[in-house]
Order: sequence, then structure tokens, then C-alpha cells
Amino acid sequence: MKTALVTGAASGIGNAAAVRLQREGYDVLAVDRDPTGLGPLEEAGMRVLAADLSDDAARASVIEAGRGVDALVNSAGIILLKPILELTVLDLRQIYAVNVEAVWELTSKIGRTMPSGGAIVNLSSSSAKLAATTEAAAYASSKAAVLSITRSFAYAFGPRNVRVNALCPGIIDTPMQDTVLAKAAAARGITVEQLSEERTHSVPLGRAASADECAGAIYFLLSEDSAYMTGQAINFTGGLVMF
Ligand code: NAP
Repeated sequence: MKTALVTGAASGIGNAAAVRLQREGYDVLAVDRDPTGLGPLEEAGMRVLAADLSDDAARASVIEAGRGVDALVNSAGIILLKPILELTVLDLRQIYAVNVEAVWELTSKIGRTMPSGGAIVNLSSSSAKLAATTEAAAYASSKAAVLSITRSFAYAFGPRNVRVNALCPGIIDTPMQDTVLAKAAAARGITVEQLSEERTHSVPLGRAASADECAGAIYFLLSEDSAYMTGQAINFTGGLVMF
């Protein structure tokens, strides 16, 4: 049986990816800092590990537990909305610890133990390519770093036939998206519905996507159907980003 480790599995995209991979026959290790959110996954037969990926010791325990997996999905991530000129070094460190350091460490230290045919998907974002708002500058820079990490490790692991790709989602209906919409709408003095409509208006397909749809793209990047793809930054944006 193939094995997979999914971070951020208690919520949103990571949750949908964990469920999809189990459905595809993987033995899934679901990781998140939220033990309550992991409960339903454990009940569904997954192995779970509650760990804060911004903590060195906890991260090391995740790396140890993930040795030799066939698939790794780095979905855990955080966002901070704050005017760009007010961002502090502490803000940057907090975001980078999860969105950059943990992705680097898990990709490097688990990737090197993966068998031939193994694959990694790192969750980047359309914001790595588009500066949609200056309030998300720290987040966007962390997601740009994820693309570089993905490309470098695609080179490093290519000779061992371990692939590393990034997915760049646009607007996906998840708890993170709800938080972003609520904060951004309040800052602009409009309702969540108004902002949501404004944002989806700029998407050629005219809508947000579900986490389940996103999990489908993640599964494709882990599957044999993408066996000749590595180091890619795949847009999942309904056409919002086309490069
Ligand atoms: P989400 O619903 O907030 O889920 C992320 C999960 O990661 C949460 O359970 C969160 O726990 C967990 N997490 C955060 N920090 C962690 C840490 N230090 N250690 C362990 N777990 C941690 O977010 P999502 O929307 O599914 O996003 C998943 C990924 O896709 C993220 O990397 C995000 O940046 C990226 N993405 C999302 C969208 C979108 O529209 N939703 C668009 C582009 C990219 P807490 O709830 O406790 O924070």
C-alpha cells in the first residue's frame, strides 16, 4: 500500500487532499497543529500526528514519521493581512517558519527518503505570481519562495525519480479564505458578499473552487499521469492567472 503524509490536514485543502488520497488507496498520515480537527480523520482510519510545524522539535517528529512515504503534500500555511509598511521582522519570521522553513525542511528531509516514483506537492499561491494586494505582501513573498524551493528540489531529486511540483491556487473556499474575505471586507468597509462577488468577477470562470476540486489537481500531480512533470508551478485559478 502506498503511503502519504499531508500537512494542514485538519482544514481546507489539506483536509480534502488527505480524504482524496485515502480514497485512492493511500495509507495517510495526517499532520496539523489542530488535534481536534484531526479527530474525524483518525475516525476515518488515518494515522494522525498533532504537531506545530513552526516548532523545531515538533517538525523533527513529523520528518521522522514521514520517512519513506510515497507522497508528501505540504498544505499547512498561514496568512497575515497587514499594511506592507507596518510589517515587522517578527511577522515575517512567523509566516516564514510555517510557509517557507517547514516546506523546505519537509521537502528536503522527507524527499531524500522517498522511493523512486515518489512525488511532492507544495501549496504555493496565485499570489506568488500576482501582487493582488499589498496587505498580503509577506504571505505572497513566502509563496514565491515555495516556487523556488520546488524547483531546486525538483533538480536535486530528479535523478532519483522523485518529483516535486507546486500548485498555485487562486480563490478556494476554505476557512483561510473565509478569514481573508472577512478581514479584507471590513478593512474596505464593504460586505463579505460584495467583496466575494468583486473577486470572482475577475476570474474568467466566474467562481471560486472547492477544496475537493483542488485535491483533484493535487492527486494528479502525485499520480502516474504526471510522471513527466517536475519543478512546475501549476495554476489552479479558474483562469485568473495564465502564466
Ligand atoms: P486552512 O483552511 O487555514 O488550512 C490550513 C491548515 O494548516 C489549518 O488546519 C492550520 O491550522 C494548519 N496550520 C497552520 N499553521 C500550522 C503549523 N504551524 N503547524 C501545523 N499546522 C498548521 O487553509 P487552506 O485554505 O486549506 O490553505 C492550504 C494551503 O493552500 C496553504 O498553504 C495556503 O497558503 C494555500 N492557498 C490557499 C488558498 C485559498 O484560497 N484557500 C489560495 C492559495 C493558496 P490553524 O487553523 O490552527 O491555523
